[in-house]
Order: sequence, then structure tokens, then C-alpha cells
Amino acid sequence: MTRIRETTLTRFIKDECANFDKHDQECLSGGACKVLNGQRCGYFEKAVLEPQGYPYRLPGYDYGKLFAQYAEQTGANKRKVKARRCECGNPLRSRQRYCDGCAEERRRETKRNAMRKYRYVHAGSM
Ligand SMILES: [Zn+2]
Repeated sequence: MTRIRETTLTRFIKDECANFDKHDQECLSGGACKVLNGQRCGYFEKAVLEPQGYPYRLPGYDYGKLFAQYAEQTGANKRKVKARRCECGNPLRSRQRYCDGCAEERRRETKRNAMRKYRYVHAGSM
């Protein structure tokens, strides 16, 4: 069994998750705690961690840190990051559709096509 690094998050789970059985160190619904095993847990997300911006939070916890650690621990953010990639594989900044290199390439391509069309139209009208 791998030993889990004690973080703000693991302490938070052990102390605050109503489904965490402190005696057996596992989930009351049976088996090991999903989050501690690196999996997302619907109950924990909805009832313990609460959505971001939830006003009634337990005092004494840095929720920014908890969210970050939860995302890191379970890979909750990874899928989104993975999807944000250019067709060439380069990572994209937010709102970007193509990476800088591809965007430049496409601009050039569009320009070339426009020129071709322009020439064609004018050649045809002669
Ligand atoms: Zn690209």
C-alpha cells in the first residue's frame, strides 16, 4: 500500500468528510477513500468541499489550497487541460484556437488563397 502524503486536503478529508471512517481509515460506503486514492468523489465534491464560491465554509481551512490539491490529487483539471491543445500538439493559451505557429501559418494560407482567387477572378474577366 502506498503511503499518502499528509496535505491540507488529506487532513480535511479525515476531519471533515462524514463518510470517512477514522477508525478503519476508509470510506463508510465501503473500501478506501476515493480521493485519497487519486479518484474524484461525487459526495466529497458536493457535500464536503462544496462548489467554488460557497459561502458557508468551515473556518480554519484554506479553500484555495484545498481546491488546488483536490484537482492535483484526482486529476480533476487534467481533462480540460488536455483538450486545450492545438492540432499540432502545442499547448494553447485560453481563447486561442491555434498555437502561434499554426495561427501564423493559417493566416498566410488564407492570404495565399485570397490572392489566388483574386488573380483567378481578374484573369477570367479579361
Ligand atoms: Zn499548432
